Amino acid sequence: MNMSTTIDRSHIEALVRKAIAEAGGLASSSGAQPGKPAVAPLGWVDGKPNLRVSISARHCHLTDEHVEILFGPGSVLEPDKDLYQDGFYAAKQTVMVVGPRRRMLPNVRVLGPTRPFSQLELAFTDSISLGIDAPVRHSGKIDGTPGCVLVGPAGSVQLDQGVIRAARHVHMNDHDAAYYGVANGDMMQLVIKSHDCSVTFDDVLVRADKAAKLEVHIDTDEGNACHLDAASEVILQKMPGACACGH
Ligand SMILES: [Zn+2]
Repeated sequence: MNMSTTIDRSHIEALVRKAIAEAGGLASSSGAQPGKPAVAPLGWVDGKPNLRVSISARHCHLTDEHVEILFGPGSVLEPDKDLYQDGFYAAKQTVMVVGPRRRMLPNVRVLGPTRPFSQLELAFTDSISLGIDAPVRHSGKIDGTPGCVLVGPAGSVQLDQGVIRAARHVHMNDHDAAYYGVANGDMMQLVIKSHDCSVTFDDVLVRADKAAKLEVHIDTDEGNACHLDAASEVILQKMPGACACGH
């Protein structure tokens, strides 16, 4: 299976659907069929969820205050590239991360929008390079995690905590959750079939949100381990044994 072709085609289909929906075409001309929504659920293609697996490379989230300290008074994040999830973007800005014994990672991308707490998300290999023993945590659960120093063109910030290895998770909306029979907080299993290096990931946390599109986030180590770019098949399913009916 040629994944890039599939993604391009489905991406184009999604754009067309969006354009039609925005023009009111689906709602007014076709009319809602009984039991079927007039507009497809967010991110769906051809009447079903369109699974996407993305590698989330090392990045940081910043507070408004830290943006101003690092990039100068009055600075705001400047969107450079939209992420697949609506409203989220990679900013033009990057920071340098400094760990203990002056080890550093240059050019760590800042993702927007800003957040109430600054947080640095690394893959295991990154944390080894930096000399920080970062625990696996879900985004936002940073109590008791190590800190680091962030350096920008205008200043630096000492984070007392917030350095984590982001735990694998899947974003989805209510329609996706119903399709898979899961709820927010459940764990799922992701199977990546790749030539000579297939990997099954357990413990994929469901993060359900009305505005989300179906997308699994794994880190660079996980993505490289299964050669995600060359994967022939990806399967997302409930954790085996998670269902009382035996599936
Ligand atoms: Zn995510």
